[in-house]
Amino acid sequence: MRLAEFLSVHLGAEESCGNPELGKPGEVPPLLTVTSQLLALLAWIRSPRGRQVLLQGTHPASNVQPPIPDGALSQEDSPYQPTPIQGEVPRGEAQGQQLPQLEEEQRAWQRLEQLILGQLEELRQQLEQQEEELGRLRLGVGATDSEKRVQHLTLENEALKQSLSLTRDLLLHWGPGPPTRAPQEEAEALLELQGRLQEAQDTTEALRVQLGVQEVQLQGLRGALQQLQQETEQNCRRELQQVHGQLAGLRTRMASLRQGCGDLRGLVSTFTQSCQGSLSEAQGQVSWALGALSAGGAGTQLPEGQQGPPTGCPGRLLELKGNIRVLCRLRPGTPCGLVSVEAGPGGTVTTCYRGRQRRFHLDWVFSPDASQEEVFGELEPAVLSCLQGYSVCIFTYGQTGTGKTYSMEGPPEDPGIAPRALQSLFREMGTGGQHRVTLSMVEIYNEAVRDLLAPGPPERLAVRQGPAGQGGIQVAGLTHWDVPNLETLHQMLSLGRSNRATAATSMNPRSSRSHALVTLTLCAASPPSAPGTAGTLHLVDLAGSERAWKAGATGTQRGDPNSAQRLREAQTINRSLLALGGVMAALRARRSHIPFRDSQLTRLLQPALGPGTTAVLLLQISTRPEDIGETVCSLKFAERVGQVELGPARRRKAPRSETPSSLSTDTPLTGTPCTPTRSPVSPPSPSPDSGSCSALGPSGDLPP
Ligand code: ADP
Ligand code: MG
Repeated sequence: MRLAEFLSVHLGAEESCGNPELGKPGEVPPLLTVTSQLLALLAWIRSPRGRQVLLQGTHPASNVQPPIPDGALSQEDSPYQPTPIQGEVPRGEAQGQQLPQLEEEQRAWQRLEQLILGQLEELRQQLEQQEEELGRLRLGVGATDSEKRVQHLTLENEALKQSLSLTRDLLLHWGPGPPTRAPQEEAEALLELQGRLQEAQDTTEALRVQLGVQEVQLQGLRGALQQLQQETEQNCRRELQQVHGQLAGLRTRMASLRQGCGDLRGLVSTFTQSCQGSLSEAQGQVSWALGALSAGGAGTQLPEGQQGPPTGCPGRLLELKGNIRVLCRLRPGTPCGLVSVEAGPGGTVTTCYRGRQRRFHLDWVFSPDASQEEVFGELEPAVLSCLQGYSVCIFTYGQTGTGKTYSMEGPPEDPGIAPRALQSLFREMGTGGQHRVTLSMVEIYNEAVRDLLAPGPPERLAVRQGPAGQGGIQVAGLTHWDVPNLETLHQMLSLGRSNRATAATSMNPRSSRSHALVTLTLCAASPPSAPGTAGTLHLVDLAGSERAWKAGATGTQRGDPNSAQRLREAQTINRSLLALGGVMAALRARRSHIPFRDSQLTRLLQPALGPGTTAVLLLQISTRPEDIGETVCSLKFAERVGQVELGPARRRKAPRSETPSSLSTDTPLTGTPCTPTRSPVSPPSPSPDSGSCSALGPSGDLPP
């Protein structure tokens, strides 16, 4: 029998525990149920009825036996046999029966005690279960559930404590106590239980602390997560911006590439056109050669309109690309280790200046011992192309005293480019009179343009822009001479050379103080040559670039007019060469505006450097160690000029006017009679068929 049954039998409905909630099993923890039972038992013992029962030493209820722990004693072994109450028993008889009854009661109470102990054992087991639950809680994860459990356990622990104290009270108040050994053991058990309770409370407290720590950690983790999210967002945004920037850069690059592509397409179409032109020209040459061969000689008459190629350049096609060709010639002298060359086509000049080595690539490099003939051999094809209506300009550039005039004019015993060119042209033209040759010669001295072939003393001429829409320039008053033969031509060149301004400087005893421009116009006047074409050959001997102090033209000596004159000359020469550099740079960069007007030199060179012309720069350099700075400067200039593209060479048509042009094949000079004033020296014979281009050749005497 369980304690609950005992209580329900002994106490009945009116004696039950005051708290009805505690009696409902299942709604409160089992520990609380036990507690309520114990409370009820205590209340019954303290009640008058209970006291009476206990004092009488009788059985509490006639039909009730004390509670027996489950399995402790069987119904048969129980001392409480159902004996009905007999009412008042006589005293003497009662005393006779008192002893055995007491013994029996004592046994019954011992059993009750055992019952309570059983209950206590049950409580201990429940406690152990709670401990296990606590252990599980330690491993648990949910903070809220754990807390609830902890609260629940705390509640149960409290109830357990109360039960224990109640039990103790019960044992203390329970009549004549059983033998002393059982309560002692019980007290020990109680103590042990208390200890465990304390332990459970400690564990709960520790768990609570742990929970607090975990909550703090959780809070920290949440903060870290938030920060991480913010950082990731910021990084993403930054990367997105970078990608946008890169995309914009790529778009710009793509646009520039597209533009470059367009430029390239233009170049390719230009190149294709020029190739086609050259191809048809080559075909013409081949058919001409075949015709000549089949006719049995070069002198055979060709069909009208067909022009034969110059014999001086069989099979050689002109430059297709249209770049200014740059040739370099070294002045003979003491070789020094600062300048070394690789001569020949595509040659190089290596300089060592201020500890820095630099290599310059040029179209052709002539060694110092190269002859005049060798130099002209490279220029001859270009010179002869004038006969087919091309415009060719050859100019020498370099420091004073490096051999520009020597290369262009040369001494009589070893003539330079100009005399050889004229000779070659006249030889090519033969005596057929297919061309009419006209000559003009000017110099630019201190920015003044002077006619070197004027019948009278050289006059200053005015350079004007040509009529609007026609381009070109005009030199008013310039004399043009019809040149019937080579001899006359040489005489006229000598005349012009003698008129040129020269002076002695410390670098060159006969330094050219001016730029000289010789222009030869070759008009295809009559068949079998192609009528209507007008080739032009410009031969330009530039004054040398020089540093004033180096040339000894300082002009610092007071009262020395020559010295001041040299200084002024040097300044204007350098200024005009600087303007030429500016023009070259603009041409190289394909700028829309080319500063031809910056100097008289560049104005006069404008027709010679126009589109479709052929230009060759002959650079003269010195190998002397003291000239190394100037040499490097000149080479730099030449390298830049080599990058200038004038476009594929084009043939020029002869102007309708009967007056041949000077320096410009596009626009004829107006108001400039082709008939020169009578010269003081023996007159050259007029051109036999000059009627088509010029009425008269020079008839005056020319100076020797
Ligand atoms: P620039 O015109 O450049 O001032 P020049 O042509 O007047 O220089 O030459 C200066 C001197 O050098 C002249 O006396 C000339 O004879 C001489 N000279 C230049 N080049 C050579 C050469 N290749 N062979 C022989 N003498 C030369
Ligand atoms: Mg000179």
